[in-house]
Amino acid sequence: MQKANKFLPLSRPEISKETIDDVVKVLESGWLATGPFTQKFEQKLSEYFEGRKTACFTSATAGLQASLMAIGVKPGDEVITTPLTFVCTANVIAMLGAKPVLVDIDRNTFNIDVRKIAERCTSKTKAIVPVHYAGLSVDLDEVYAIAQEKNLRVIEDAAHAVGSEYKGRKIGTFGDIQVFSFHPIKNMTSGEGGCVTLNSEEELKFLGLQRFHGIDRSIWDRFSKNGSCYYDVVMPGFKSNMSDIQAAIGLHQLQEVDEMNERRRYLSDRYRAAFSDMDDKFWMQGIPSYDFVHSGHLFPVCLRDASLRDNFMSFLKENSIGTTPYYTPLHLFTYYQQEFGYKKGDYPEAEYIGERIVSLPLYTALQESEQDYIIEVIRNFFK
Ligand SMILES: *Cc1c(COP(=O)(O)O)cnc(C)c1O
Repeated sequence: MQKANKFLPLSRPEISKETIDDVVKVLESGWLATGPFTQKFEQKLSEYFEGRKTACFTSATAGLQASLMAIGVKPGDEVITTPLTFVCTANVIAMLGAKPVLVDIDRNTFNIDVRKIAERCTSKTKAIVPVHYAGLSVDLDEVYAIAQEKNLRVIEDAAHAVGSEYKGRKIGTFGDIQVFSFHPIKNMTSGEGGCVTLNSEEELKFLGLQRFHGIDRSIWDRFSKNGSCYYDVVMPGFKSNMSDIQAAIGLHQLQEVDEMNERRRYLSDRYRAAFSDMDDKFWMQGIPSYDFVHSGHLFPVCLRDASLRDNFMSFLKENSIGTTPYYTPLHLFTYYQQEFGYKKGDYPEAEYIGERIVSLPLYTALQESEQDYIIEVIRNFFK
């Protein structure tokens, strides 16, 4: 077996020449902050999401937090989410003084177990924040049925799900609120960045204020001719507006994302086929019974023998292959244990997966020969 002559990372964004040219245009324009590119990006995102309202942020984290504020999450409220996610999903809930109430996952799909959500709802529950793990849609009909019955809001953490579909509909084109991430590790990027898709004009206005100091220029626009030098402040806000540099990158990536996802799915299918006889060593993300399209953001595998994981990752690293264990379940982190009383044993399914899961390299520029090499190294590890 030949060593790869370059390191094959877990992920790597693909930035076209046209993207670089447009970023230069922004830099030369003299207007680097939120401006015409951001406006156009929001408009194009709205078209991509079939006319939904859209608001861009510096990150999905900022978009999630602003969305929780927009639906009125307050100290003492409870918000239901999954333990198998990036910590920001729960951090933003905790930052607002609310309690992230975790619901265990489904061992097959790695998504929140929708059958266990209802029993965790209390009179304090305000919202459900499901995560479309790796790009595989949660069973949204079930989530929305519970939300309707219990009068809850839903904010989908769609950080992995640009281009994912559920029962023939694209995530972000329907439902309550969705939040997408354009961090460079995701399947589409704007450098750093995120976008919220939503229905309510009033909540869109809130997000606009929240991401920019609570400043409302429209009030003063009515009274002044040029309207630009006076403003009113109607609430305290953060500073999480997207820059035109980010939007210029995002605009190109949005045009390319469906094609990039095709490539990711093609490579995922190649992994699946190559590993079809390895089920006694590890298993792959399961296929739910409903119709779906996977974004191909991540390709996770779960080792049958948890004690092998560190060696497995080291072996791949020694052979120039990058992997990451997404994710350590949230209830095992110090803060979540101290603040909310969670402890080891609380979420056995998430722990079972959390000890075994490893994401393999998956990105559009990964060549078939490089992927074949990764497959060979993995097979050799188990020999
Ligand atoms: C990456 C990620 C986020 C946060 O995205 P940022 O744009 O980096 O803030 C949120 N949720 C999940 C599940 C993620 O993987």
